[in-house]
Amino acid sequence: MAYVIGEACISCGACVAECPVDAISEGDGKYVINAETCIECGACANACPVDAPAQE
Ligand code: SF4
Ligand code: SF4
Repeated sequence: MAYVIGEACISCGACVAECPVDAISEGDGKYVINAETCIECGACANACPVDAPAQE
């Protein structure tokens, strides 16, 4: 399952540069992950200050 960014996201952008496949972009009120390209590496979760990305 791809990672999904939850409502805790504060749109800091820290995760974007950590994603090896550029799957993260700014969305409406929070950042979003493209489930088609996410390779489930977990780098975004490790970089996030509020633990917003998670596998559902
Ligand atoms: Fe990118 Fe890895 Fe996060 Fe998926 S889990 S969005 S591939 S950093
Ligand atoms: Fe949102 Fe966390 Fe990414 Fe910052 S690092 S944009 S809080 S998901």
